[in-house]
Amino acid sequence: MKILVINSGSSSIKYKLFDTETHELMCAGLVERIGLAGSRVKHEIQDDGGVQTIVRETPAPNHETGLRLVASLLVEPGIAVIEDPAEIAAVGHRVVHGGERFSQTVVIDDEVIDVIRQLIPYAPLHNPANLEGILVARRIFAQAAQVAVFDTAFHQTMPARAYRYALPNDLYEKHGVRVYGFHGTSHLYVSKEAAAWLGKPLAETTLITAHLGNGASMAAVKNGRSVDTTMGFTPLPGLMMGTRSGDLDPAIIFYLANNLGMSLAEIDKLLNKQSGLLGVAGNSDVRDVVEKMEAGDENARLALEMYAYRIKKYIGAYMAALGPVDALVFTAGVGENSPLVRQMSCSGLAHLGVVLDEKKNNARAKDVMPIHAENSRVKILVIPTNEELEIARQTLDALG
Ligand code: AMP
Repeated sequence: MKILVINSGSSSIKYKLFDTETHELMCAGLVERIGLAGSRVKHEIQDDGGVQTIVRETPAPNHETGLRLVASLLVEPGIAVIEDPAEIAAVGHRVVHGGERFSQTVVIDDEVIDVIRQLIPYAPLHNPANLEGILVARRIFAQAAQVAVFDTAFHQTMPARAYRYALPNDLYEKHGVRVYGFHGTSHLYVSKEAAAWLGKPLAETTLITAHLGNGASMAAVKNGRSVDTTMGFTPLPGLMMGTRSGDLDPAIIFYLANNLGMSLAEIDKLLNKQSGLLGVAGNSDVRDVVEKMEAGDENARLALEMYAYRIKKYIGAYMAALGPVDALVFTAGVGENSPLVRQMSCSGLAHLGVVLDEKKNNARAKDVMPIHAENSRVKILVIPTNEELEIARQTLDALG
């Protein structure tokens, strides 16, 4: 069976095609600049010798043309990975917000589409694009089951004491203002990988997972279930990120509006697009910030210290929330590739049983890489995330 995984963004479609019989990735790609000048598709085919990359600059005025382009590449003579698009039995869609309605992956029907649409106010940047991907895929791969995998679903197991804000009840009961959490597919994927590495059932595994990418969040996972997470009603709070502030005193917003005359739109942009590493160090990419720090830039040093200090604080908080922890997991772009961030985040935590092995920490991550010292009570693992594979697996499961 072939499963196509789609992550549809406002001007891009990322895709991966999996063969569930061989458990192999067949091809992957990205249609970018949809609806803009200079749209193109980058299509990568896996073969025995490695990866063959095909780049086509071609107009993609909308998602429908973009996905039709993908469908035709899959069967194009000379580079075909399948003979007929009808071989694709299911399309697994990444959907950012599933609200309280979806705590599981679901097969998409008209009602599911309605609910994803109703949830647009909760994820105004993401759910419309995700929905567009679903509607287009329904037309192009009409024979395939369409399945939605939600970023919020894994966190629906949080207890009320973790997901409620100390606001008047009405705001939760009538308007759904609560912690939802994000990156759930990644937190779940690395949790499963960690449990397998530890040789325990997921349901008996307690973890702290740190997804440190451009966006970043941590999760407290008790017996395989998310019980707390650092992102909230939106992906803004929690850790310091590439361009997002993470946690801050909400009254700063009143100050910015009342004293600096900023509009809500300007504040939104400031906190989501101009803050985090970019705001403090002038660059959003950890590689650039490290380079600047090594060249003696004090703002870059401060930014990295702040970044790691937040992670450390949440490690401590989640150890208090969870009790005995089997492993601390680092994943995503920064978590997988920055020994410095891992080392700074774990330094001084020996009293909590968290001790890094410097040499292991400096090795390159592939598969599951343990980086804890022998005397570390808590295992520390670097695990490359694979959200698309998790979506493919869940899509397969949803089909029964
Ligand atoms: P992601 O959102 O998971 O794709 O992560 C993207 C981020 O990972 C980039 O913005 C970088 O900050 C970070 N990153 C990628 N490669 C490295 C690296 N070799 N060292 C440090 N950070 C990296």
